Amino acid sequence: MKALQSCKLCPRRCSTDRLSGALGFCRAGADAEVFRYGPHYGEEPPLSGTGGSGTIFFSRCTLSCLYCQNYPWSQQGDGTTYSADGLAGILRELHAAGCHNWNLVSPTPWIPHVQQALAGMREEAIELPVVYNTSGFERRETLVDLEHTVDIYLTDLRYACEVSAHEGSGRADYAPIAREAILEMWRQKGPLQLGADGMATQGTICRLLILPNRADETIANLHWLADNIGPGIAISVMAQYTPAFRAPAMDGWNRRLARAEYERVAGVVADLGFDIGWMQEYEGDAPDELIGFTMEAGSSI
Ligand code: SF4
Repeated sequence: MKALQSCKLCPRRCSTDRLSGALGFCRAGADAEVFRYGPHYGEEPPLSGTGGSGTIFFSRCTLSCLYCQNYPWSQQGDGTTYSADGLAGILRELHAAGCHNWNLVSPTPWIPHVQQALAGMREEAIELPVVYNTSGFERRETLVDLEHTVDIYLTDLRYACEVSAHEGSGRADYAPIAREAILEMWRQKGPLQLGADGMATQGTICRLLILPNRADETIANLHWLADNIGPGIAISVMAQYTPAFRAPAMDGWNRRLARAEYERVAGVVADLGFDIGWMQEYEGDAPDELIGFTMEAGSSI
């Protein structure tokens, strides 16, 4: 927890003393905050399985994406404070419910709390694969410290140009930072490995959310992955963009994906020959379904 005295967990490196009540960019305090937890069936098949992915939606975020579907808790701080014992209790509960893994969503500000809770699980001989579910905006140095904590990295790679990254998430330097982070994740965990039951045990999954008017950036990132890591990295191409939060009022962000944009990306995915991955079906005309959005604050399984 000493890291919180001068917090540099994410690339913003605020140097804030969170233990004394000061708040950095993400406004995360001294105690862990969780919006909701429970089995989640909307993740990639080797994570969700039949028992669900034991997902913990942490409050707060190190980015500020204008289209964030989770903004009530990521941007506005909805959630409940948990002690270290409380967080350990959540992990225990998810394990007892038969979840296939512990899926930590936006955990970066809470890494020390998670490590403390996981140490408790090890003492109790309670084990599950740990999924680090992130926007990709990560410090390489922080990831290095996670090598023996995390089993599966589930990371986004969203933009390839500074203008989009600045407009969309408030950080023009997102792409080089996220790409450096993925290289570190890949160095640590490598390709996705499945157990005899088909569930993920270790590895790296890169999610690419196709953004409206920005299919070229998804395509650039697909080429970057193929050139710098190779087609062995598992990819998950997402077509679910919905203009949530501040996006409805923003030109260029206020519509869903067009079929032509989706098909261009699908063509490149096929051409590059990735070995393993998933691609959401095009659902441009379907009603909005925001994963996790309808969950009640503080509710349990
Ligand atoms: S985790 Fe939060 S407080 Fe810490 S460096 Fe990042 S934005 Fe700042």
